[in-house]
Amino acid sequence: MEMSRPPFDRASDEVLARTARYCQSYRAGQRPLDPTASPREIRDRFCTPLGAQGQPASEVIDALIAAAEPGLVGSTDPGFFAWVIGGSDLVGVAADWLCSTWGQNAAIYQSSPAAAIAEEAVSAWLLELLELPRDSSVGLVSGATMATFVGLAAARGEVLARHGHDYDALGLQGAPLVRIYLSDDAHVANYSALRQLGFGEANLHRLPSDAAGLMHPRDLAEAMEAHSGPKIVIAQAGHINSGGFEALAEIAELARAQDAWMHVDGAFGLWARASITRRHLAAGAELADSWSIDGHKWLQLPYSSGFAIVRHPDAHRRAMRMEAGYLNAAEEDGRSPSAYVPELSRRAQGFAAWAVLRHLGRNGVAEMVERHCQAARTLAQGIERLDGLCVLNRVELNQVIVGCAHPEDEGRQLLPALCARLNAGQRNFVRTAQWKGRTVLRVSVISKGTGPEQIEALLAAISDAWQDVARQAEEPAP
Ligand SMILES: *Cc1c(COP(=O)(O)O)cnc(C)c1O
Repeated sequence: MEMSRPPFDRASDEVLARTARYCQSYRAGQRPLDPTASPREIRDRFCTPLGAQGQPASEVIDALIAAAEPGLVGSTDPGFFAWVIGGSDLVGVAADWLCSTWGQNAAIYQSSPAAAIAEEAVSAWLLELLELPRDSSVGLVSGATMATFVGLAAARGEVLARHGHDYDALGLQGAPLVRIYLSDDAHVANYSALRQLGFGEANLHRLPSDAAGLMHPRDLAEAMEAHSGPKIVIAQAGHINSGGFEALAEIAELARAQDAWMHVDGAFGLWARASITRRHLAAGAELADSWSIDGHKWLQLPYSSGFAIVRHPDAHRRAMRMEAGYLNAAEEDGRSPSAYVPELSRRAQGFAAWAVLRHLGRNGVAEMVERHCQAARTLAQGIERLDGLCVLNRVELNQVIVGCAHPEDEGRQLLPALCARLNAGQRNFVRTAQWKGRTVLRVSVISKGTGPEQIEALLAAISDAWQDVARQAEEPAP
């Protein structure tokens, strides 16, 4: 049906066109990767008094660009290696523009049928790509931390119910102690989600981690056998530093024998399952009860995007239940997005996910994962050839952890110096980290555009910068 349109609004029309042009030039151009302004300079532009009078649209957008640009990190650049952060694919960006333009609230089916059904499509594609049980339920959340929260909330209700405790009626009051088993080097997101869910140190069994940050099934078996009662196991598929995978099939078997719920933190590592050549790394993940995975990392979706996947839809829905007369969400119409997540009013996250998945296709996702893994391996081989540097992890995925072979320094000063030099060139961006008692350089190959060319450039930059740093270290102090 043709409706009469609102009067043509020149100002808003212009601001959208200008912004689109700016976005194109931002993504096409070479920008600094490391912020160029001090906190004070950034604050001076943002933290002005709020005027009583509004400002014209274009002026405001120009002011926002001027305020933000010097404080932006080049996370979308193919030379960005600092954290596990995706490159915000432009098809996803365009879909996100539409999402904002349409202003949909993806709360219940009736508040946006298109948003609800886009999520249905994305859920089915994801389960297929990751080869997870097809009748699992999927919640589209803001990231892997929230996905973990959702998965573990479902776990909490379910393991308590199996031990005769009704969480919905009683909460944790009078509940049997839930024992949670995970690596002492599991991602902090897991510990955070557990705390929000009412679990503290008394609940946690932190199992000793190996050099890759992973727990050993033998330790898990021993720890679980020592107790009866409700149990949750959290396994890692893609450790945040080493990229390593725990023995998922073995862990699943132990969990099953103990009637425990198994959650897999696969924020980026689960994407290995989309590639035939890497799939073996995450073999056995399909046996778990719930999974957390990010969209804004390896899948390159714009922020914020994550997926909470649960094998048991009833436990999932029970944990996230939200009902009110005014919502009137007749499920026979269609799936209500908010039935699987903690939020009610929410962004229609399915649109960008749908667009990027469709744009990449199955082969595109696999190709990207394989290209990044291969790039990480090439980088690691190159670093091993440099005198005084070493690679501390087995590079099977996209992560390369660089250590300093200098016995006295162990990287404490030399690696931060190397990092500063690399970043000063504004072509690559890396960061150091503290891990296992030493300072390391963490390199994550995860941005959509990163390939052999960027790795060659990074390797050359590391080689040059390292020679300078090592030479200076050998010069006697003045
Ligand atoms: C990034 C990450 C998380 C947390 O995900 P967010 O999207 O930052 O909330 C959890 N686990 C692992 C392994 C991660 O890499």
